[in-house]
Amino acid sequence: MSDPVPPHPHHQDYPRAVAPNVPPRRHLEGQTALVTGASSGIGRAVAVCLGQAGANVAVNYSSKEDAALEVVKEIESSGSHAFAVKADVSKEEDVLSMFDAVRAEFGTLDILVNNAGLQVDSPFIDMTLAQWQKVIDVNLTGQFLCAREAVREFKKRGVRPEISCAAGKIICMSSVHEVIPWAGHVNYASSKGGVMLMMKSIAQEVAPWRIRVNSIAPGAIRTPINTAAWDTPEHYAALMKLVPYKRIGEPVDIGRAAVWLASDDSDYVHGITLFVDGGMTLYPGFETGG
Ligand code: NAD
Repeated sequence: MSDPVPPHPHHQDYPRAVAPNVPPRRHLEGQTALVTGASSGIGRAVAVCLGQAGANVAVNYSSKEDAALEVVKEIESSGSHAFAVKADVSKEEDVLSMFDAVRAEFGTLDILVNNAGLQVDSPFIDMTLAQWQKVIDVNLTGQFLCAREAVREFKKRGVRPEISCAAGKIICMSSVHEVIPWAGHVNYASSKGGVMLMMKSIAQEVAPWRIRVNSIAPGAIRTPINTAAWDTPEHYAALMKLVPYKRIGEPVDIGRAAVWLASDDSDYVHGITLFVDGGMTLYPGFETGG
């Protein structure tokens, strides 16, 4: 991204919140990545950062083809190859054909970023089965389906030492809500708690095949999923009570973490959740002594 972080209207005290892009190291050259839900927000930033680091990227989207094609254009402007692939990650047949499309375009896959996710909020007492199921289907089952196909591909192909120390890398987009309970969002917190133990269990099982599996747990990141948390100065100030570092996260904060987790720089990092949250998991209510 040429200008990764436009100034945030409410970052009054932190006009220079995020470090500017330095000329990217193209240390993922020769690798191919699939990022789900990559037409907006965190997925978009992850796809662009992976592309800037030299990876060729499949940009998955579920409905907004135009937005996905813009991401493709941005990646191609950094010198990497990209293409857009439509799939609903909660549907097995869509996921299978998405992996076929990735193999047809790139030959194989090295990096999966399981990013697609959504919220369908409701007080618990009124939550319908459909609201519960929708979130579990996309946020948990979608990650299961994509991870399974990635493991099948990685195991079949094995390690290519000239490309990477690992046969493949999976990064699951979790959330601080894999550990922080969230009233009014029981379906979402349950899906992310599920992602945590799914990730760790897969990691334990596939490690002998040199497949690395980790999660990123973002805190509050400025994307369309949580506009209501940052769209006015009042909302932003309320949000900052939960963030010891006193700024909202930007999608590029997550993109940079994903590049590290996907690269051989983190080769001995396996089965962890990397919290990228400005300290949101530090019990900020105790900042003043409790
Ligand atoms: P976003 O709404 O911009 O992105 C979510 C993406 O997932 C969208 O592009 C959407 O089209 C896609 N998607 C939804 N359902 C899909 C489906 N069935 N198949 C394929 N794609 C689908 O929001 P975001 O904040 O960028 O969220 C990305 C991930 O980060 C999610 O897993 C979310 O839970 C997680 N996360 C976000 C935050 C935050 O503060 N923004 C915090 C913690 C975790």
